Amino acid sequence: MSGLTVQGLNKTYRAGEERLHVLRDLSLRMTPGESLAVVGPSGSGKSTLLQILGTLDHPDSGTVEIGGTDPFVLSERRLAEFRNAKIGFVFQDHHLLPQLTVLENVLIPALAFGAAGAEDYARAEDLIERVGLSERVTHLPSQLSGGERERVAIARALFRDPVLILADEPTGNLDRRSAEKITDLLLELQRHSGAMLIAVTHSDSLAAAMGRRAELVDGQLVFADSAEGVAAAQEGSNP
Ligand code: ADP
Ligand code: MG
Repeated sequence: MSGLTVQGLNKTYRAGEERLHVLRDLSLRMTPGESLAVVGPSGSGKSTLLQILGTLDHPDSGTVEIGGTDPFVLSERRLAEFRNAKIGFVFQDHHLLPQLTVLENVLIPALAFGAAGAEDYARAEDLIERVGLSERVTHLPSQLSGGERERVAIARALFRDPVLILADEPTGNLDRRSAEKITDLLLELQRHSGAMLIAVTHSDSLAAAMGRRAELVDGQLVFADSAEGVAAAQEGSNP
């Protein structure tokens, strides 16, 4: 199975005496090349879901399978390798290292497990060209605009040709025009690579550009194209 299968995911946080049940029996299936927009109000658990799918956090219960592998049975070391090779992250606040150049930031996934070779440099330069930053290779993040920083983050996320790209409000800090350009770029690169893309967003234009759309409601994903969604839409269109 080369897709993503999530079954019965539960996640709670302890908040003092209380237990906050953020994800409740959440299930999801995706196949390679699919894209999904996750929407929902602040605090509904969108980032929690992405953290778990990105193997940065463990669920309380439930299973995740990415490209046929259950990441949560791996040792710490193997899990780190798995994450580096299979998952690309694009965060709202880009998480670039300020002391590294654009080129070095894109090479981080190669440097994480050894030295970067000639092939790695060629791959990084190719990605930097594809995100339109060939003139900025030696710039530091502080010397870039917000949109340019996000482009670097996208190039870095794609460096290892991941099977799953996770983007948490990738255009949240950008003006509308930059946001639309970043959206187009992300989707173009995702389609080109055949990876799955899950993007959390508050942007209707980003959500509309994605293949599927789901809202996180009471800890579960409710799809806009589900039976309930279709019924609600038909009801809404009745005179
Ligand atoms: P979203 O990304 O949709 O805004 P989050 O996944 O960040 O939501 O958070 C969901 C809920 O879980 C929020 O109420 C948040 O306060 C809570 N939460 C998130 N992380 C933690 C944590 N590490 N400890 C306790 N509560 C948390
Ligand atoms: Mg969030």
